[in-house]
Amino acid sequence: SVPVITIDGPSASGKGTVAAIVAQRLGFHYLDSGSLYRLLALHARKHDVAWDAEQPLAALAATLPAAFAQGRVWLDGNDVSEDIRAEEIGIGASRVAALPAVRSALLQRQRDFAVLPGLVTDGRDMGSVVFPQAATKIFLTASADERAARRHKQLIGKGESANLPRILQDIIDRDTRDAARAVAPLRQEPDAFLLDTTELTIDQAVETVLRRFGQ
Ligand code: C5P
Repeated sequence: SVPVITIDGPSASGKGTVAAIVAQRLGFHYLDSGSLYRLLALHARKHDVAWDAEQPLAALAATLPAAFAQGRVWLDGNDVSEDIRAEEIGIGASRVAALPAVRSALLQRQRDFAVLPGLVTDGRDMGSVVFPQAATKIFLTASADERAARRHKQLIGKGESANLPRILQDIIDRDTRDAARAVAPLRQEPDAFLLDTTELTIDQAVETVLRRFGQ
């Protein structure tokens, strides 16, 4: 069977960074599942479909013209790698992700990424719903203050304006919505290893995941 490592956790926890490095170290494929929800939010906006229109969104999700190639994210043949990172699209992603029909429409597409030699994937429900049989499950988190500080630093580094209290509030709001929803709520699975990175470097977090996997 195909080895799968799942890394779930709240927003801005650094799980994407850690997952991508772990995948590179192992030579495994990598799936950022949040990008699918972000792509759907963007696609819906381009098609004038509201972020709470469950059936139309599920229909768009079933045929989402998305591709991951050359380290970029593509929608309808356009490079949308930056567009999907907009704060507003993150909010849209968390709204469309709360709809059960949307989640089921994206389920098989996510499972199709599990091919040899293996997969590292990050999200909210990768260990609970999408890959419940994963070899290694991690719940990666950090304090809300630390996550806000990291996101703030990242935005400043990109030369963008950033307001720390506002970022912290957005992070708390998104976590609350992701944890409160009826389907696939954000929570630590009983068989997931809790990795609190508040006081860890990226390298230390990567090493911990590799060790859990047995490398
Ligand atoms: O991880 P990221 O911030 O890119 O995810 C955007 C949104 O997509 C999250 O706030 C969450 O609501 C949703 N999501 C999800 N399940 C996943 C990945 C992301 O519900 N596996």
